[in-house]
Amino acid sequence: MMSPSDDGQPGRLREGRRMRSIDGGSHASDVLALFREHGELSRTDVIELSGLSRSTVNQRLASLSAAGLLADVGGGESTGGRPSSRFAFQASRAVILTADIGASGFVVAACDLNGVPLVHAERVINVWEGPDAVLSAVDEAFGGLGHDFDVWGIAIGVPGPVEFAARRVVNPPIMTGWDRFDIAAWFAGRYAAPVSVENDANARAVAEARLHHVDNIISLKLGTGIGAGLVFNGQIIRGDKGAAGDIGHTQATMSDAEPRECRCGNLDCVEAYAGGWAIQRELEKVGIHTNTTNDIVALVASGDMEAMRRVRAAGRIIGDAIADLVSILNPRTITLSGQLADCDEVLMSGIRERVYQHTVPLATGSLQITKSTLGELAGVTGLALIAIDALFEPESVDAILEAPPALRGA
Ligand SMILES: [Zn+2]
Repeated sequence: MMSPSDDGQPGRLREGRRMRSIDGGSHASDVLALFREHGELSRTDVIELSGLSRSTVNQRLASLSAAGLLADVGGGESTGGRPSSRFAFQASRAVILTADIGASGFVVAACDLNGVPLVHAERVINVWEGPDAVLSAVDEAFGGLGHDFDVWGIAIGVPGPVEFAARRVVNPPIMTGWDRFDIAAWFAGRYAAPVSVENDANARAVAEARLHHVDNIISLKLGTGIGAGLVFNGQIIRGDKGAAGDIGHTQATMSDAEPRECRCGNLDCVEAYAGGWAIQRELEKVGIHTNTTNDIVALVASGDMEAMRRVRAAGRIIGDAIADLVSILNPRTITLSGQLADCDEVLMSGIRERVYQHTVPLATGSLQITKSTLGELAGVTGLALIAIDALFEPESVDAILEAPPALRGA
């Protein structure tokens, strides 16, 4: 939307009417979105970028500044002799407390309103200790992050399928005792801020998509288990209930091997060959004892032939599973995270080999397969970004401007 043209009264009137109708349907969140994208803008920039009238822009800037989401940073360019003040988004106004819970540990972080982790901590846990023990440990770890900030959201990531509408984990293969547990309600009783619950691979996919500025991405989490987050056209693909992307429990394409039992109870899942736990099981059979997926990574780094052979085979199994997804969805980028991704080329070569073998050139012409550069902070970053997107929806911003979450009733 551009500013009205100067050529002739009728045009200006039409333009004016159109803008008034836009102003009438506009929200403070529209102006806030411009600042989230650009960081810092002058009053004139906002008028030009939004197409809103000067009076509406002034009112929006005033209310967003009063809530602490914008600050007048002065020093704007001069327009017609009058200085135009500059405003900047205040990402440090509040934090989202995030917890990326894995099978054997979690990362907690306080992230600013750009999704950047300001402070984080890691803890070792067993997810099968059950929700109350694990969430109590998460809550305690939140407390250890410090109290010098307003909390505007809680975002919890879990390594299992999440029924998104109900924010509950549903029938998770590895999370005994978590089925249908209401994680959101558990935290809602302790914090005044909104609580979101998300599958861990989905959260990673959102973080990677924003980091790489791509709209079509598959993010693989390769750890004890295997999961995939799908972001297409900039949106998480959840499917009907939230189960999309669970490639770890799709059928592996192995016909020459003995059927392998998966921990979900089925036979021959991708995870039963390529999950960290399954590689540990295979190494145990040849007398190599490991305690964690990280132990496998260490063996590969030391050049252990048995470990390298199994990780390479795991790469090919994962590659086959991904090749189908690449053919169906045509991503631009595939990123790998999770402990097993630290096997680097030993794992990656098998994945690349199969993906390029089993897809058409158009799907792989500009496809990039890379290791995540966000590492173990990918999960908490994505969780924060998802919570912030919800926080800055029009109605939610209007509510914040009336009363910030920390001041609303607990
Ligand atoms: Zn399975």
